[in-house]
Formats: sequence, structure tokens, C-alpha cells
Amino acid sequence: MKVSDHVWAIMGFPNVAIIVGTRAVMAVDTGLGPRNGATIAKVAARLAPPNAKLYLTTTHFHPEHAAGDAGFPASTILIRNKVQQDEMNQQGKQVLETFRGRSAQWKELLADVNLRTPDIEYLDAASVDLGGATVRLLWFGEAHTKGDELIFVEPDRTLISGDVVQNKTVPNIAAGGGTPLTWLNVLDKIAMLNAAHVLPDHSAPGDGSLVQQEIAFITDVRTRALALKKQGIPVDDAGKQISAEMKTKYTEWPNTNVANFVKSVYAE
Ligand SMILES: [Zn+2]
Repeated sequence: MKVSDHVWAIMGFPNVAIIVGTRAVMAVDTGLGPRNGATIAKVAARLAPPNAKLYLTTTHFHPEHAAGDAGFPASTILIRNKVQQDEMNQQGKQVLETFRGRSAQWKELLADVNLRTPDIEYLDAASVDLGGATVRLLWFGEAHTKGDELIFVEPDRTLISGDVVQNKTVPNIAAGGGTPLTWLNVLDKIAMLNAAHVLPDHSAPGDGSLVQQEIAFITDVRTRALALKKQGIPVDDAGKQISAEMKTKYTEWPNTNVANFVKSVYAE
């Protein structure tokens, strides 16, 4: 589907973005394993002008986002931020094993994973001119993981938000990720981008209001969790109570189980 003038998406697990310029294209995320990576590369080639360069970046190091790079042509330019690459070096193999253990299909899809070292590694910001569209790659701090990358496409004002801004989806902090407070700090920086379109990786695309919705939800859960902690309520009871409260307040959300997120607030 088309998200904005220069941004296309393959909807799935996860949603994958393809940003198209006049001289180059960029894929955001690889899909789960090389076979999915090859499919994305094929779609990118179809959308690209002749002789276009192909860039690849990843929102974070988890396998459905980053373990398919071996399916891309060898000439693909892989670019990601340093914190994400450090996480990949430290936890990449272990999380791959966890994912392989989840089903026979995932085991097969993740059989020939060969994780590449990035061609370009940056600290907290990089900019890639694709011709008529500029991609800003940004690391704003720790949220879902330590190394979450935000991708902002200009002039479209399209944010490819990974797990950091989702649509009516309870936030999830992965093992070794940030805290609710660091996540909020990241969201404050994202809000300054003034996005017009948001493409999350595991939920439906929406407009820029998704950013404020994410801030409101995390703030609500965190404020209540801190209050219940102060009253000495055990964390499991607080999780149940706040999940029920959020269900009443966020009626359109399919699931408001925030037990894990409440644990993260208690642990801040
Ligand atoms: Zn993830």
C-alpha cells in the first residue's frame, strides 16, 4: 500500500517500508529471515527507478526486523545506528535461538541467517538523500529496545516508528530495553518532528496523532502505577487494576493488558 508520496508499505509481520527516490530506494526492516528479505528486495526493485541504489535499515535488532539481510543483493548498503548494532552483537544470536524455538516455520525461515556488519554505522543521526526524498535516521534513546531507530521521510513528514509509536497497541519493553520514562523522553523528541503520517511495525498506519496517543497512554499507565506503588499496592495487583482502568478509558483498543508495563514502571 502507499503511505505517502515517497513511502510504500508491505503490511505483515512486521510492516515493512520502502522509500522511493529518483536515484535510490531504502527498505526499512528485512522481514523474518532471508526468504522474506529477498521478497522485500524484489518489491523494492520493482518500485525503484532504473540503476537505483538500494539502502537497507532496521528499526531494531529483533529477528523479524533485522534477520533477513542475507536475502538482499550483496550491493545493498546496510545502515544502522551504533547502539542498535551493539545490541545485535550482544543479544542477536540469543534472540534468534528464542525465535527459532517458537515454531517449525520460524525455525525454517531463520535457518540461513547471516548477519552482516553495517556498511554505515552512525551515532544518533544520519541523513540519506534518495533524490527528491530525504530520509533522516534518528536514535533518540531507549524505548522498546536500547537501539530503536526512528525513520523520518521528508518532504512527506512520514514517520516509520518501529515499536516506539504504535496504533492502539500496548507498549512492550523488551529484555534489556529502556524504561517507561526513557520511552516518554523519546516520544517528546518524536513529537517535535511534527509527523503527518505514521507507519508502525506491528499495527495499522495512521496520522500524526498517533504520537500524542502513545504519549497519553504511557503517561496514564505510568502515573497510575507510580500512585499505586506509593500506596504499597503489590505490582501484580496494580497490573490487574490498571489494565481494567485502561479498558474503560481506551475502549477502542483490542487489548489493554498492561501488567508487564506496570512492572517496568515499578522497576524504574
Ligand atoms: Zn521488537
